[in-house]
Amino acid sequence: MAQLQWYPGHMAKAQREIEGRLKLVDMVIELVDARAPFSSRNHTFDRLLKNKPRLVIMTKKDLADPACTQTWIQKFEERGYKAIAVDLKHFKDTNKIIQYCLEILKDKRENEARKGLKPRAIRAMIVGVPNVGKSTLINALAKRKATVTGNKPGVTKAQQIIRVNKDFELFDTPGVLPPKYDDLEIARNVALIGSIKRDILPLDELFIYALSYLNKNYPDALKNRYQLTFDENDNWVLDAYEQIAKVRHLPLLKGEIDYERVQDLFFKDLSDGVFGGITWEKANV
Ligand code: GDP
Repeated sequence: MAQLQWYPGHMAKAQREIEGRLKLVDMVIELVDARAPFSSRNHTFDRLLKNKPRLVIMTKKDLADPACTQTWIQKFEERGYKAIAVDLKHFKDTNKIIQYCLEILKDKRENEARKGLKPRAIRAMIVGVPNVGKSTLINALAKRKATVTGNKPGVTKAQQIIRVNKDFELFDTPGVLPPKYDDLEIARNVALIGSIKRDILPLDELFIYALSYLNKNYPDALKNRYQLTFDENDNWVLDAYEQIAKVRHLPLLKGEIDYERVQDLFFKDLSDGVFGGITWEKANV
């Protein structure tokens, strides 16, 4: 999904749209990125979604630190949400998600049945920040011979309801809100996972922040990729640039290290997942 520009008016409109659609759903599936589960949530969702039953899906678990993912799941569950982690790129078992949703709504459905109401499909909407995997999940859920049954009362043509199976329906357009990147720590995390364009921040600072974080939390990642080990002394930043340039055989630029190229190479390595599973924030935030 394309990056959106968020003007205040745009944001208000997105929020209104989400609120409007919420009236038509039984529950919400909120996607967060397993590499930064706090920063990749827009906490406005909590206000908007109020008491709607919610399933939290932590996406991109293949790129995150498995131990951190486990503690984040516990954290969400302590807050009262069912949470699961998935790798949507290799995800086949969409039925499991439907089962979780049915489980979350079990009491409500049983109550309805007791009152003699006819069982009906539950309807869910997917929400999340840009790039978290919303379209990938909608496509995965929809591909199993889904029928588009749009144009129901109260549903505009642009937003259609996908009937995934007899028990489960889904809006084909997700609710999107940007992460709250006016907070520097959050901006760094969401830039590192690619929810916002990286160059919204000074790249040299982001590079230094990322190296320092990796050195403290995943030193083997730097050692394996760049044979880089360091204590944070006065010169560590220049030394690190030099070491990465040397190990990766980057040509000099007018006799100097090409700092920008070192940064680009590092960020590319990060996007390609070459450091293994990395989580940029711990569950105790
Ligand atoms: P949206 O903006 O929330 O709709 O995000 P998309 O569904 O367009 O996904 C953004 C990018 O993340 C795409 O390149 C997806 O292939 C990729 N992606 C989504 N989920 C996963 C996942 O679980 N693991 C990995 N490695 N990539 C994913």
